Amino acid sequence: MSTAALEALPPLRDVLAEHGILANKGFGQHFLLDLNITRKIARLAGPLDGCVTIEVGPGPGGLTRALLEAGARVVAVEKDPRFLPLLAQLAEAAPGRLTVVQADALQVDERALADAVEPGAPVRIVANLPYNVGTPLLIKWLTGPLLPESMSLMFQKEVAQRIVAEVDADAYGRLAVISQAIADAEIVMDLPARAFTPPPKVASAVVRVTPKADRPPEAVLKTLQAVTHDAFGQRRKMLKSSLKTLGGSDLCEAAGINPEARAETIDVAGFLRLAEAVKGLTAP
Ligand code: SAM
Repeated sequence: MSTAALEALPPLRDVLAEHGILANKGFGQHFLLDLNITRKIARLAGPLDGCVTIEVGPGPGGLTRALLEAGARVVAVEKDPRFLPLLAQLAEAAPGRLTVVQADALQVDERALADAVEPGAPVRIVANLPYNVGTPLLIKWLTGPLLPESMSLMFQKEVAQRIVAEVDADAYGRLAVISQAIADAEIVMDLPARAFTPPPKVASAVVRVTPKADRPPEAVLKTLQAVTHDAFGQRRKMLKSSLKTLGGSDLCEAAGINPEARAETIDVAGFLRLAEAVKGLTAP
């Protein structure tokens, strides 16, 4: 596979200028125009051959170029139609390896998109996510039927810290519990705001999320969402009171959890026991 055609493409800044494209804040557009950075993100995403890589929000295609240079077969989902001509040029430079879909990533069926490239192929997700939909997309990919091998995702640093936070930390909450119940998560790269064009107000970080082989069953994930919603919705309250509608003290006792404890002191395993206990208490 030759990458000469990709390397011969003009700099991203020139491509944007040529097409007269300015960032649209409503779409969370903060571009990575430095290919050294996007190549590093592609490298950190691990070996991309043998799988289909889904990229959300390719925009002008800086990360897409790096993924293609690394040999990936990419399905790129972009909502803003202004980028389609730029991405078509990229597809020409990597024949047969880039499919562009104009759609809202919250609505697409990624499994069907990947199957159209190769039925049943393992999927990796790599994306510099739009800030306004980053968290709902992560939850969709963690809890939905896609079952990706890994996800390497750029978030606002504060969100990245909430994903990897440990019990008792300030950032520990619903996002940490749900993410870590399903996957291993670590911050693999920090990026200052100035790395982006235009720069956002805050720093960013890439989180690598690797789903565990023994994902909790569907029913437990459902009750885990309900338990964490109630427990962290009123995080200063004792669990016997914040979890009242799900079973209160009885639920805590069934899960071996002190009913007077507060949410931030319960580790991920404890929340999984609570979620399983809800299922037990509500089973016919
Ligand atoms: N990947 C590019 C880069 O690194 O330079 C652009 C990243 S920019 C932070 C986010 C991209 O996501 C934009 O191109 C934006 O148009 C796109 N986007 C925003 N909301 C989207 C959605 N709901 N579905 C798909 N793409 C979306």
